[in-house]
Formats: sequence, C-alpha cells, structure tokens
Amino acid sequence: MHRVAIAQGHRRGVEVGDGVVVHEDKDVPPHPALVVEEAVPEAREAGLERRHHLREGRRVQLHGVLAPRVRAERVGDRDLHPGRAGRTGRDFKVRPKAIRRALHPCAVSRYSRQEILPQIGKAGQEALRRSRVTVVGLGAIGSVTAALLGRAGVGHLRLIDRDVVEISNLQRQALFTEADVDRPKAVVARERLAAVNSEVAVEALAKDVNPANAEDLLAGAGLVLDGTDNMETRLLLNDVSLKARVPWVYAGAVATRGMVLAIVPGRTACFRCLVHDVPPPGTLETCDTAGILNAASSAVASMQATEALRLLLGEPASGRLLLYEAWTQELQRLKLARRADCPACGLGRYEFLERRGAEVIVGLCGRNAMSVDPVRSEAISLEAVAGKLGKVARLRGADGILIAEIDRYTITLFVDGRAVIKGTEDPAVARSVYARYIGS
Ligand SMILES: [Zn+2]
Repeated sequence: MHRVAIAQGHRRGVEVGDGVVVHEDKDVPPHPALVVEEAVPEAREAGLERRHHLREGRRVQLHGVLAPRVRAERVGDRDLHPGRAGRTGRDFKVRPKAIRRALHPCAVSRYSRQEILPQIGKAGQEALRRSRVTVVGLGAIGSVTAALLGRAGVGHLRLIDRDVVEISNLQRQALFTEADVDRPKAVVARERLAAVNSEVAVEALAKDVNPANAEDLLAGAGLVLDGTDNMETRLLLNDVSLKARVPWVYAGAVATRGMVLAIVPGRTACFRCLVHDVPPPGTLETCDTAGILNAASSAVASMQATEALRLLLGEPASGRLLLYEAWTQELQRLKLARRADCPACGLGRYEFLERRGAEVIVGLCGRNAMSVDPVRSEAISLEAVAGKLGKVARLRGADGILIAEIDRYTITLFVDGRAVIKGTEDPAVARSVYARYIGS
C-alpha cells in the first residue's frame, strides 16, 4: 500500500510518508482540511500541480485553489502507474477509479465492517475480490443475492436473466425501480451494481439459459447461484455444475417459505438427489400463482448469499437443506444424503444437459404467439392448473384445453403440457410465461 496525496480532478498522486503535514502557503494559516497527517517524518510531492511545490524534509506545502481538496489516501500497487521521477520524490499516475474511491469519504472503509469479522478478515476479502460468481436469474432471489455479493466485493459477477423488469417485480426485487420497467433485468442490474461498487466487474447477459448454451454461459464461474424460477433449469444447472465440478447454491421461495441447498460436486448430495425429475406442469406453485412475501424471498436470498460467501471463503458445505418458513420464523436444517443411484452425481448421466432441443419453442407465424412444448410423456391435470390460476387469470376451457388470460398474454394449455402463448414473439418470453404460470 502507498500513502498518496491526491488532488480532486487530477490523475496524479504523490507518495507521502507517514507524518507529513500538508498545509497551504506559509503566509496563509494552515487550512484544517489540508492537515493530512500530523506526525510524519518524510514528504514526497511532485507533479500534483505546478503550483504545488515540494519541500524536502518534514513538511510539504501546497498552495493554490486545489490545495483545499487534497487528501492523502492509501491506494494499492495496482492503482498506480509509475510517473516521471520527480526531482525530490516519486509521483504516480493514479487510476481514475482509485481517485474516485480515494476522494469518497467512505473510501478507505468500504469493507471495513466485514473485514473485522473473524470469518472474513483481510485475507478473506482478498479471496472475495478474486472470485468469479455467475448468478442465473435476477428475480426475487437472484437480484438480492447479486446485490449482496456485489456490495461484499466479489470481484467478478456474471448476471444472466432472460426477462425484462415488470411493475409486479418491484414489490420484492430491490435492484429495480419504476423507471426500469420493460428494460432487461441483467442490464439494469449491472448498472445498479456498478453504481454501488465500481470495483466489481459486472457482466450482463440478457439470455435464456438452456441445454444448448448452458455450458458456455456458466464457463469460467467459480460458483453458480440459482435465481431461476423453474425446476428444469435448476436440473440443468445441476448437470452443468457437476460436469464442470463447480459448486452451486440452489434457492427457491414461494408464498411465505423457501429452501436453500449448497451443492459441492463430489462432496454433498446434488439437486437431483433431492428432485428426481421435473414435476409435471401445473403441480408446483409459483410466485405468479401462489404469491410471494417479499420478506420471505429476501431472507432466502440472504441465506443463499451466506452459503455463497462461505463457499468462496473455503468453508465446507454443510450438506443440509435449509427450509425456512418466514411467517412463523421457523428454520429447519435437514441432512441430505447422497443417493448412490442418483442419475447425475451417482451415475454421471447429465440428462438435462443432454436434452438439447428437447423443449421446442416455435413462433406461430403472423399470430404474435409462440408454441412451447416441454416434450413430456405424461398428461397434466388441466383442473389442477385451473385451480392455481383461478386467482390471477380469466379462465375458460373446452375439451382438453385450458385458456387463461393473464396480463397481456393468452395461454392456451393442452393436456399434454404444450402451450400456445399469445402476446409475444420472443421465445425467451414465452418460456418465461410458461414457467411462471404453468410451472415446470
Ligand atoms: Zn445426486
């Protein structure tokens, strides 16, 4: 670390030793704001500004209008480029980001409150800075988890989400505002996190994760976090993570409850040990049909973020499924055994990853509609789906189909699970509407 005097608006800093007194011209009483350090044996000043003169020895005098805005801050080696050698000292070009950070009142203490924690410390903070985390899905859980990790200083975040912000998201998705409606969530999330913590590199991908692209999208991640809204994508994340031997953390919340499971390939049970297959459409509740308490989803996101930070800091995974009921504030921790006959972690068969192209989504020409076909063998219960959608949709039905009007979409659901979604020509939107209202 270097202690460097930096003037606002300048790209140069001057290394100062401990104990330097920086004040204005000797004819002017010292300005309190210029007293950078009171008890310092050595000073180095050059190139801040021509008006600033270096005086060898124990005191540095700065004068001119910029002087009141000089601060001494600690900056790391990577923030400095060597400048020209001064006659009497060393000056540096300082990265603009480091200057902004240094001039910010809280700059030196961004992580101080978590570095105090014995579980993290300075070494842990550095480990977080070197970490690469991919968050898939930026809804009630993913957006909150991404924000927590970005604020905690995880060095690289890749944020993936196929959806745009909707007004109904704002009740719980704390990264977004009314002005973001109809903008891609990934892009908005990147902007927000960059504004919160410019030290974090954030990548935004407005994409649907499917078997054809999942390995590419998750490549390079040291940890994957589940913010998705459907079991099929989770089983896909499980396959990709097991195959690449990358840990991931499942999290889901609906109504007033949620679940979290940290999965470390080769050590803990995997997601498929817990959920053997994609449940038939319509059997699971979703936030869009059963609702969601914002405090519940935020709590589950915090639990997921905690598991993520633990894994990034080298803690062993507990192998326990965390079940949280927010309304009654009850937490259960269930030991989850690995299944020897688990197709994924037991037998090494990555069936959801290998389903490339199995789910067919095609546009219906000229109708502003998409057909979504999850390609499954068993029939679904249209009655059960109607029961769940009753509160949020206008329903009508006939032989073997159920028609639901929700928001600006009309979903026509067939007994084999296929649906036609009118109101979009975007495959990702169609898939999303299917996942939200029919569930998979
Ligand atoms: Zn398994």
